[in-house]
Amino acid sequence: MKYEISVRSLCEFTARQGDLDRRFTPGPSALEGIAGHGMVTSRRDPHYQRELSLTGEYKQLLVRGRADGFDPVKNQLEEIKTFRGDLSTMPGNLRQLHWAQARIYGWLLCQKLGLPRISLALVYFDVAGKQETLLAEIHEAEALKHYFEDQCERFLCWAEQELAHRTARNRMLDALRFPHSSFRQGQRQLAEAVYRAARDEHCLVAQAPTGIGKTIGTLFPILKAVSRGKLDKIFFLTAKTSGRGLALDALELIKNSEPVLSPLPLRVLELTARDKACEYPGKACHGESCPLALGFYDRLPKARAAALEIKITCAGRANTQCTDMLDKDSLRAIAREHQVCPYYLAQELVRWCDVIIGDYNHYFDLNAALYELAGAKQWHVSVLVDEAHNLLDRARKMYTAELDQAVFKTMRRSAPLVLKKALDRVNRCWNELNKEQADIYRVYPAPPGKFLAALQQAIFAIADYFTANPSGINSELQRFYFSALHFSRVSELFDRHSLFDLTKIVVNSGNFLVNNRSSSTLCLRNIIPAPFLTQRFAAAKSTILFSATLTPWHFYRNTLGLPENTMRVEVDSPFRSEQLSVQVVSHVSTRYRHRGASVSPIADLISRQFARQPGNYLAFFSSFDYLKSVTSLFRSRYPGIPLWEQTRGMEEAEQDEFLARFTSTGRGIGFAVLGGSFAEGIDLPGKRLSGAFIATLGLPQVNPVNEQIRQRMDLIFHAGYEYAYFFPGIQKIVQAAGRVIRTQLDEGIIYLIDDRFTRSDVLRLLPSWWKLERQEIKEAR
Ligand code: SF4
Repeated sequence: MKYEISVRSLCEFTARQGDLDRRFTPGPSALEGIAGHGMVTSRRDPHYQRELSLTGEYKQLLVRGRADGFDPVKNQLEEIKTFRGDLSTMPGNLRQLHWAQARIYGWLLCQKLGLPRISLALVYFDVAGKQETLLAEIHEAEALKHYFEDQCERFLCWAEQELAHRTARNRMLDALRFPHSSFRQGQRQLAEAVYRAARDEHCLVAQAPTGIGKTIGTLFPILKAVSRGKLDKIFFLTAKTSGRGLALDALELIKNSEPVLSPLPLRVLELTARDKACEYPGKACHGESCPLALGFYDRLPKARAAALEIKITCAGRANTQCTDMLDKDSLRAIAREHQVCPYYLAQELVRWCDVIIGDYNHYFDLNAALYELAGAKQWHVSVLVDEAHNLLDRARKMYTAELDQAVFKTMRRSAPLVLKKALDRVNRCWNELNKEQADIYRVYPAPPGKFLAALQQAIFAIADYFTANPSGINSELQRFYFSALHFSRVSELFDRHSLFDLTKIVVNSGNFLVNNRSSSTLCLRNIIPAPFLTQRFAAAKSTILFSATLTPWHFYRNTLGLPENTMRVEVDSPFRSEQLSVQVVSHVSTRYRHRGASVSPIADLISRQFARQPGNYLAFFSSFDYLKSVTSLFRSRYPGIPLWEQTRGMEEAEQDEFLARFTSTGRGIGFAVLGGSFAEGIDLPGKRLSGAFIATLGLPQVNPVNEQIRQRMDLIFHAGYEYAYFFPGIQKIVQAAGRVIRTQLDEGIIYLIDDRFTRSDVLRLLPSWWKLERQEIKEAR
């Protein structure tokens, strides 16, 4: 069996030395890279050959790649690299890497055409100035052959252990059995649908109730499908850190559940954000600033082998001992021992691990590392999206960019003098936009060209400044730089999936709120991430999106851009309707104009239920103001009933304290806002939670931005109100209500407080196993 490797991967493994260097030079985007390659090759003579597929073998290795271009008349092979900024600042080890690739391609072409020698050229194309810089060398074929064989030899023992690892992994996964004695109700249905999706290579949307064990119910079948679906890797992506922990626990259980297969050779890696993994916050990621970047590539081979518990023996043979879970703590310990950056060590290990657990960002973001690596390495991946109802909001944020002028002005005051001209120009253009707009909020058909040009100039100036001043990074300037870069990138992708809006910063002047003419926020606001996510779904062999609330299906399909052939499964609930009493309180309206009148009946209702059945309850409201009105009346009218409140911007410790009050012997009411930290993702089984009061239909607030979203949704999907307000609102209701019944032994009660809960369009979106107690509601269903 041959081990296939691309020219680029081979060189990255064998020819990288020295420092890690991620200086703040804005590299070209993928699109700019493609356009740059096209421009260079379009300038060549008609006989010029583009994109030559080349292969070569050495022992067990099969090396493949595509050389950018070959001029048969000049006998010159070209390796094209796009860049932006000052070429002279390119790190020497990166240049070495480019030469290594050119030499390998050189040999593969000499071998194919029987050439005795060849000219190799590195063509550096500046995407901003459209200029080429060409560096050329003549090489004898024989010398190139030796170089090729030497690089292959260095990789060979790693390749052998990789082949052995994959073979053992696939064999053991084929034999793997479910880690529990039986599936829970609904879990088998979910697992079978996931297995089929992975095997048949399509997207799956799985709506499955809480409590059936979705994490293990998706991970187990996807592992079983690895060899059948020829999968290289599995990406398990979550919206919250707690989801990552559940996935790690499930994989630990799978790995250890079968003593005969133990230890299951499955490499599991947890990814964390750079700012959480960084050992030197405030330093820049290059050898002149951070000690863990200095000589990073020299120490990487040992750190990599230690992480994967691979012992390289004297004959160069590798021997896999066993593998473990590379969660963030164990990775940090290995990185410390080998004095390498833990964040970039994890980025390297993505290449060699089987299951990668990370945030949605790692695959769906504009510059997502997992997406880019999977494309570059042509991996066959399956993507699991946990709690997928969060993907719409999270993806909107990923493709939204915002600049706040107040923050910009503060940064400008402490910025180096050399940047004054560029930053002043940005501020002038910004002020012109403010001046032209009389109202507080306005949407424009396109982002302003003059402002963007000034911003681009500032980005270049800051990048040059960072290059010339590698140490002593000004953190405000750095933050602005990243925001500006993101804004500039997002502006290039602007289309009808997004809005460009300007919001004046409002200041309090005596008794009036007035426009602050000299300050505003500019926002490229993504509304429909579908055009971006579509590419992500297409790049994976299969994507499985699962959650308890993915209704209605067309809303998620259209806004997320799911492929046409996406399958759906609605998993039967394991819960009996007798477990949950759902009471509709239709004589109360929670509409904004009726809120004053609703406070007293809601407080009385909560106290009555508490008196009837003392226990722990959650009461959800649409806003903190509404919550406050009810709690202050409740407190004065029913001082004997304990209550605790969610407050704005609660720290993690305060959130833990709030949840800690829900003990199985506890009594009282926790007041919270719908859509907040306590309305989903928390688990209070048994007596820890007896019921919930939901005093809202969950509709997002009507404001100028949401109204713009409604209009755009109407224009594109002809369902403005439903897509902007109604569906997101009901989804939050079902999530919050889902806190009450967590296991098949739980019993509880939910009060849906609003007359609109009797409407048939609302009832259609509620879980089918809920039994509403009012007779007229049953008929409306
Ligand atoms: S430790 Fe921090 S500053 Fe150093 S290379 Fe890693 S991420 Fe960059």
